[in-house]
Amino acid sequence: MLRTNIFLVKNLNTNSLECRHHNANWYFKIVSFFFIPPINITFVYNLTFCVLKPLPVSKIYNLVLPAEIAYNEDALFKHITSLTKFENPEKISLRKLRRSVDARGKQVKVNLDIEVFYNEPIAPLLSFKKDYQNVASKPQVLIVGAGPAGLFAALRCIELGFKPIVFERGKDVRTRRRDLAAINKDQIVNPESNYCFGEGGAGTYSDGKLYTRSKKRGDIRRILEILVAHGAKDEILVDAHPHIGTNKLPTLVSELRESILNAGGDVLFDTKVTDFEVINGELKAVHTEDGKTFTGIGVILATGHSARDIFYMLERNKILIEAKPFALGVRIEHQQSLIDSIQYHCENGDRGLYLPASSYALVTQVPYKGVEKGVFSFCMCPGGFIVPSATAPGEIVVNGMSPSRRDSKFSNSGMVVSVDESDWQQYKDFGALAALEYQKSVEQNACNIGGGTQVAPAQKMLDFVNKKLSNSLLETSYQPGLKSVMMDEVLPAPIVHRLREGFKMFGNKMKGYLTNDAQIIGVESRTSSPVRVPRDKETLEHVITKRLYPCGEGAGYAGGIVSAAMDGERCAEALISKYGVNC
Ligand SMILES: Cc1cc2nc3c(=O)[nH]c(=O)nc-3n(C[C@H](O)[C@H](O)[C@H](O)COP(=O)(O)OP(=O)(O)OC[C@H]3O[C@@H](n4cnc5c(N)ncnc54)[C@H](O)[C@@H]3O)c2cc1C
Repeated sequence: MLRTNIFLVKNLNTNSLECRHHNANWYFKIVSFFFIPPINITFVYNLTFCVLKPLPVSKIYNLVLPAEIAYNEDALFKHITSLTKFENPEKISLRKLRRSVDARGKQVKVNLDIEVFYNEPIAPLLSFKKDYQNVASKPQVLIVGAGPAGLFAALRCIELGFKPIVFERGKDVRTRRRDLAAINKDQIVNPESNYCFGEGGAGTYSDGKLYTRSKKRGDIRRILEILVAHGAKDEILVDAHPHIGTNKLPTLVSELRESILNAGGDVLFDTKVTDFEVINGELKAVHTEDGKTFTGIGVILATGHSARDIFYMLERNKILIEAKPFALGVRIEHQQSLIDSIQYHCENGDRGLYLPASSYALVTQVPYKGVEKGVFSFCMCPGGFIVPSATAPGEIVVNGMSPSRRDSKFSNSGMVVSVDESDWQQYKDFGALAALEYQKSVEQNACNIGGGTQVAPAQKMLDFVNKKLSNSLLETSYQPGLKSVMMDEVLPAPIVHRLREGFKMFGNKMKGYLTNDAQIIGVESRTSSPVRVPRDKETLEHVITKRLYPCGEGAGYAGGIVSAAMDGERCAEALISKYGVNC
């Protein structure tokens, strides 16, 4: 019998398993197998399950480069050619694997891991293939919300052979744009279509930052690959802090919807879920505002952190929910050139042609009446805009977004303080809705102080720290306009105190950051959900109500586009593994 040394390896570029012979330029991509001993395997058993392919000849280089080489394709190619000294440079192909900016030293460097192929085609980049089966006649899964959690739950249902019906109260991504213009220009907030509600959810008109600290919850690479397969640039697979940009997200979101529709799933716009039918502790049906009733094997509830009517509906139906800590504060706006001069140590903020707009992350602890709480930057948007993100008239909420090139002259970031039960004592009679009512009252107060429209209260940064009303305000990216006020009147005292002290500490960490050339704009209040819809850790089903799968940011299980998408996939898998078996 023929025996040979073969290694089982995971190809990190393609994420596939490969069998490699120890001294041959050939590998076998494993399609399926039932027995793989680690070494010295019997050749006869496995060959029938493998596809034979030539192994691309490649070498990985870990380089530290100046930006003008790392971000310039021609200069990079020249650099690699001189490094490798191959005879025929035209036979060289490059694939970037990882890229990050290191601004710690005086000279800003770019760390670049790059794979160089010589006289070989580049091995496939994506292991994910956009190849969805038709599920039009398959059992239905009901998904409430077409944000990242809902859309990725729908795609996963299709992969697993189930038909998703996605309900979305807002409009499709293009029509939604008109309502955003109305908020910015005419101060009109449509409670069904705004920066939080509509196709793609809160993530659509955002920065599209795809960075997540979450490591446990599923495969980040898989989510990024699905995005690339639907039109995102493959650079998101390379950059340490990937982002898409608000100008690119709408097309990407509509591609995700097309995949759902082409596979026979449904996406119903302008369709608000208004009630659940729960019988004997089991969720039996979903009612929509237009009077229709839908049934399925289960419901994935992915309505985001701003669907207050959903939280009221759950409470009304006695479906267990809990008040949840979140974070509250302001958005701060500097000139991007100021942040660049601090972060990149460059004169007059001139970062040159190649370096991306710089960002920062700040965190500290500040005591108030003997209790320490976190003060931190949140959702920083280099080269971005501040946007009005309220979901109802009579409230002010700000957030940030940026285009793919991050080329606005402004930099903005949330600056928030952790809030918990001790902050919403005054609202404790609202029980599970206490944090939500506290959040709502701050947003309404900001609106009243701003004058009742979307004009937002604001104060120069140093004036705020020195408890001084600003005589004038700075130019801003926030389109509805600003009103100079004392932020002490807008935010609760513990938040104001901690922000003030936090800003002083941040000014010490980043010289030049604490300045009257920056202003704070209120209020940044939708940092995460003020309500948790509790679910079982293992099964992901609601702890009491059967066939209900609380999902994504609104339920308290995600904080951002990628983590919401991963949670959507997990909920679809969990629901189908429990209720899809005998369908
Ligand atoms: C301006 C802005 C910028 C942001 N920037 C970033 C960023 O750069 N990176 C990042 O990772 N995160 C960002 N976020 C946060 C990110 O968008 C959210 O974490 C993410 O979208 C949460 O996904 P989700 O699917 O859980 O909920 P959502 O995206 O909130 O989606 C919920 C969906 O449910 C729908 N819905 C609500 N109620 C109902 C109902 N009753 N019936 C039917 N449909 C309903 C809503 O209309 C909405 O479309 C940003 C958010 C905003 C507002």
